[in-house]
Amino acid sequence: MTETVTPMMAQYLDLKQGYPDAILFYRMGDFYEMFFDDAVAAAAALDIALTKRGKHLGNDIAMCGVPVHSAEGYLLTLIRKGFRVAVCEQMEDPAEAKKRGSKSVVHRDVVRLVTPGTLTEDTLLDARRHNFLAAIAQVRDITALAWVDISTGALRVMECPVLNLGPELARLSPKEVLIADGTEPEFRDIVEDAGGSLTPLGRSAFDSTQGEKRLCDIFAVGSLDAFGSFSRAEVAALAGLAAYLEITQKGNLPLLRPPVQEQRAAIMQIDAATRRSLELTQTMAGGRAGSLLDAIDRTVTAAGARLLDRRLSAPSRRMGVITARQDAVAALCDNSAMTADLREQLRSVHDLDRALSRLALERGGPRDMAAIRNTIGQAAILHQTLSKAELPDLLATAQRDLIGQDELLALLDAALVAEPPLLARDGGFIAPGYDEALDAARQLRDEGRSVIAQMQAEFIKHTGINALKIKHNNVLGYFIETTAAHADRMLAPPLSDTFIHRQTTANQVRFTTVELNEIESRILNAGGEALDIEKRLYSNLSAQILSHQAALGQLARAIAEIDLAASFAHMARQDGWVRPVIDDSRAFHIIGGRHPVVEEALRKSGTPFVANDCELTETPIWLLTGPNMAGKSTYLRQNALIAVLAQIGAFVPAASAHIGIVSQIFSRVGASDDLARGRSTFMVEMVETAAILNQADDRALVILDEIGRGTATYDGLSIAWATLEHLHDVNRCRALFATHYHEMSSLSAKLDGVDNATVSVKEWDGDVIFLHEVKKGTADRSYGVQVARLAGLPPVVVARAKVVLEALEKGEREGGTARRAVIDDLPLFAATPPAPAHAPVKQSMIEDRLRDIMPDDLTPKDALALVYELRELL
Ligand code: ADP
Repeated sequence: MTETVTPMMAQYLDLKQGYPDAILFYRMGDFYEMFFDDAVAAAAALDIALTKRGKHLGNDIAMCGVPVHSAEGYLLTLIRKGFRVAVCEQMEDPAEAKKRGSKSVVHRDVVRLVTPGTLTEDTLLDARRHNFLAAIAQVRDITALAWVDISTGALRVMECPVLNLGPELARLSPKEVLIADGTEPEFRDIVEDAGGSLTPLGRSAFDSTQGEKRLCDIFAVGSLDAFGSFSRAEVAALAGLAAYLEITQKGNLPLLRPPVQEQRAAIMQIDAATRRSLELTQTMAGGRAGSLLDAIDRTVTAAGARLLDRRLSAPSRRMGVITARQDAVAALCDNSAMTADLREQLRSVHDLDRALSRLALERGGPRDMAAIRNTIGQAAILHQTLSKAELPDLLATAQRDLIGQDELLALLDAALVAEPPLLARDGGFIAPGYDEALDAARQLRDEGRSVIAQMQAEFIKHTGINALKIKHNNVLGYFIETTAAHADRMLAPPLSDTFIHRQTTANQVRFTTVELNEIESRILNAGGEALDIEKRLYSNLSAQILSHQAALGQLARAIAEIDLAASFAHMARQDGWVRPVIDDSRAFHIIGGRHPVVEEALRKSGTPFVANDCELTETPIWLLTGPNMAGKSTYLRQNALIAVLAQIGAFVPAASAHIGIVSQIFSRVGASDDLARGRSTFMVEMVETAAILNQADDRALVILDEIGRGTATYDGLSIAWATLEHLHDVNRCRALFATHYHEMSSLSAKLDGVDNATVSVKEWDGDVIFLHEVKKGTADRSYGVQVARLAGLPPVVVARAKVVLEALEKGEREGGTARRAVIDDLPLFAATPPAPAHAPVKQSMIEDRLRDIMPDDLTPKDALALVYELRELL
């Protein structure tokens, strides 16, 4: 039996063939419909109803659909769940298709492939974060990484050995990474570790020769040398991005800024594990709240927030860069009135980058144009504010970039109404007086309406029928309506000479006249003409704006730079942060350092944060001991964070700081099981420690917290011991090393570059009190049992632990075999508390006694006697 496939289904299958890996959103009127497996997958992912629509080859066709007006939300859900979506639109008015014959299907085509790395919709993006699409390419032995944020057009590239891809991807956290077909095994783990989704592309997409041509076309240059000297691998990576943008954007190329080459050597290296453990832009749990970024973000513009995110992900190693940024912060810090003005003025600035990129992709609207107009205007105000002071270089350059768009501003001012609608579709955004033809068409359109009203009055006068009205509907257009009672008069001469009968309904009779028909077509034409003119003017304006894109991009960057410097200055004043001294030495001297995130958290609960010093200039390694909960991790991290803050050009939370530029930061704090990859805590810890020992150079800053914890005591101690020796002798880096192995304190006597420090606690009445003060020396004990008690371990267990501890300590003092004997001699753990002399027992007697009494029955004398009795029980 041969089944006939409906023409529509044939079209669907044909289109779907081009996008086997994507869900096809097939436009049907006001819905995007999905069929077959796409429907099954999407219905489950979106939690919407799965239905059927006809049959294909004898089987039901599964179907589901989402309304076009709310499609964005569904799109986002699908993308977040790892799908990609091919959006297929109707490319003509269904009326056109009908004209071709009743069997004819509306012409449809895929206009866009939506993937995690190619989103542009404001609603789908986080305004304060970048959304990067990256590509990895290899040419012979060289590997390169390129990345682009298509919502802002920023395009970057660098050579990057495979070993360093992990850290770089962790820095960028791209949503999607393109690789050549067949290289999945090599790159899958690296990409997925950084949280990106992997997209293999045909190898030809990465062809560097063809790619170079494609890139030259995009940037309208004869050679890429105009932007720097790129290696074949770099060109190949850029080419991969360009090819993919062509595939996904279907020829509507996003606005791309010329590629900028990044130097790995210019950036402080921070690997993925360190980023996680320092919680730079995300907490370990994955959220932004609680991260360093969240604690220090005082920016008021989206572009400023993105710049901060970028800076924090890539602190600089260049003295010149850092000091220029510091100079800007310092200048604004000294001029708080100007800073306050700037911050206020920045609040009215829009997201220029994203508005521009939407216009370039033809997904923008009049409101984006207004955003650009308003921002250019606001930039001129910022320029004026800045002109009130002597500016350091960075601010002076930014200030210069704020102006120069007068012509475009004048154009947009004249062309656009104050508050235009979101979409160009319905018109109404071009200001009156801008275009004569438009004004004329609008006048006709609007006058037409008053002409109709006038006509109605005349008809009433002419017929003497007061109930006569001129109405409008979609079927008849304009018509004259009277009640049935008056109709007879109108149907007979002389009135029937003028009034032509159109329709009789239950209560009404409807007429038209030649004159009314003429007016109607004039009104309709004028409305349509006005709309056409507006659309033409819109394209024109869009082209004009985009012809200024380079300068506007510069302006956007200037705004972001000013916002960031002002936000750092604001924070420095508010929270008492200082300008760190940065040089090329190996100094690391912090006085009164604080942890910005912990401090903020404590502030909310009214607890003061205890500031601490750190001096690694003379003795580059500090071995830190102290009980749990004393503040070791906090101290370790705060020093790493201060280095990061210093090198992004911000001020730092300290009384003073002197830091020789740090090349790499490594931090391992509390490794956790990586069950997904079947690695134990210990294995993860060792892999990460190996990375540090193999990579840390003499300008690195290493933070190690409790390494070796995941294995047996002696194993752990020996690994920690050997690690510290290696850091000291081979890596020769600056390091903070926290350990609970007190035995390691003896290393300071053997190694010149190692000092002991401890976080002090006070013992008071059997309890520990944490002072959170870091000072030279070693911890006398670990106070683990006391901490356990604070944590609420049952008193019985705490008491028992004390006994075991004492026995073990005694054995320790008496040597190896004695220790074994002590352990063997320990009575087995008893389920009930050992009988005599234990506080918990006494306590329960007191409790029992108290439970027995009836306070209301007691005389004052009985009560006094009871107090004496209870006292006896203590
Ligand atoms: P450790 O690593 O020694 O177990 P943490 O660094 O995790 O200890 O600190 C435990 C808690 O002590 C923190 O959550 C914080 O509330 C508090 N704390 C740590 N350092 C300080 C400090 N310098 N000043 C005040 N409170 C602190």
